[in-house]
Amino acid sequence: MDVDKPEVWFLTGSQSLYGEDALRKVEEQSSSIVRGLSESAAIPVSVTPKPVLTTPDAIRQACLDANADARCVGVVTWMHTFSPAKMWIAGLTALQKPLLHLHTQHNLALPWAEIDMDFMNLNQSAHGDREFGYLATRLRHRRKIVVGHWGDPEVQRRIGTWTRAACGWREAQGLRIARLGDNMREVAVTEGDKVEAQIRLGVSVNGYGVGDLTGRASQVEDVDIDLLVKTYEDEYDVVPELRKGGARHDSLREAARIEVALRGFLKDLGAKAFTDTFEDLGKLRQLPGIAVQRLMAEGYGFGAEGDWMAAALVRIMKVMAAGLEGGTSFMEDYTYNFAAEVPQVLGAHMLEICPSIAAGRPSCEIHPLAIGAREDPVRLVFTAPPGPGFVVALLDLGTRLRLVANEVDVIEPEEDLPKLPVARAVWQPRPNLAAAAEAWLMAGGSHHTCFSQALGLEVLDDFAEIAGIELAAIGNDTLPHRFRDELRWNQVYYHLAGAL
Ligand code: MN
Repeated sequence: MDVDKPEVWFLTGSQSLYGEDALRKVEEQSSSIVRGLSESAAIPVSVTPKPVLTTPDAIRQACLDANADARCVGVVTWMHTFSPAKMWIAGLTALQKPLLHLHTQHNLALPWAEIDMDFMNLNQSAHGDREFGYLATRLRHRRKIVVGHWGDPEVQRRIGTWTRAACGWREAQGLRIARLGDNMREVAVTEGDKVEAQIRLGVSVNGYGVGDLTGRASQVEDVDIDLLVKTYEDEYDVVPELRKGGARHDSLREAARIEVALRGFLKDLGAKAFTDTFEDLGKLRQLPGIAVQRLMAEGYGFGAEGDWMAAALVRIMKVMAAGLEGGTSFMEDYTYNFAAEVPQVLGAHMLEICPSIAAGRPSCEIHPLAIGAREDPVRLVFTAPPGPGFVVALLDLGTRLRLVANEVDVIEPEEDLPKLPVARAVWQPRPNLAAAAEAWLMAGGSHHTCFSQALGLEVLDDFAEIAGIELAAIGNDTLPHRFRDELRWNQVYYHLAGAL
């Protein structure tokens, strides 16, 4: 959804000591690296070349310009030669955009037969970047460091992943979350400090009465409902009872009415994420099901039962995953299969799973909802495809925010689930259910998550580093007792780092 075309700026450091000829060469080689990165399919944003930096004033100005340019989501630095790092103090101190330090050199191989002192003077990133690294560390400047030849696909992939995290960060800065109603009564993990979240992540969360939505719903025109019902019939296998002439066609029309109203409501607010709660539906006749599912598929973030942290994550993850294969959805660990050879989690929600994770064409169905005291809601039902993915939760520890993530392997369900009336994914957590769930509970991870099959954990690591918040990651290497220690060390670190 409509975001300014993002770019990262490529800042090359040098100094005037080497003379004009050498600096021209630096410029040439820097341009050739920028071209190489720009052409890489692994890097989804533009890479913008900037003039070689040789003075403290120019460096500071470049950093201030990066801060001020809305298209610039981050800055890549590379010290082609030796760029004495006191020159970078003012710039790095002022820099507010995410930073990636690319430790590379223009040439791939050492020119054994030709190498002379001129070559040595020109191609010295190996130590030029060390001077920069010292200063960035001394300033405690958070950054991602990527090492290797710029043409290496793995180097480009890691840069690309960081640019995705940087796009997610930019999205968070202006993200508005509309909260319809409060959260589910007495639930703890969906509360959280909205002021802290805005200070740390930029996301702003504001509440609205569900009456704002029902008022709109009552004014939706029949022609808009007709159009949307036609879309449902084109895009999904709508069960006969919901089709035109079917006994419950009115329920489908009501679902479409809610969708039209909800989309208009969010659009007018400029909100790209939202929550609702089944305990505050006012005059809505159904808990929004298909409406929420389709809005998520369009890129909106969503959290059920007032979970604005999940809503924020889903939206941010969708921005980070833009253009990639594999979907991203709101999710909840629902129930376990301990009987399987490798124990499994069945993930689902009452209704609101995003069809971007559907393996096939969703079916559009209507079933009772045991809670909420409204009419039966219309929903899309489908199963997520096998393959790697992860779940991630954002939580408020009272004094700071934490991300908890778990790598998972989604599998084909062993058997059909003919009576399960909701969309679902079945997965094996890494390293296994017992260790993963033990670690998850120890980290205080929420029952609600953002689930994605589009990206790996590296993007979360990059995002957490940019945001300066903790990522507690659970994967193949996790041992619960070591993980517990890691959490304890992190408590101390974040305490000392000023989070308390
Ligand atoms: Mn829930």
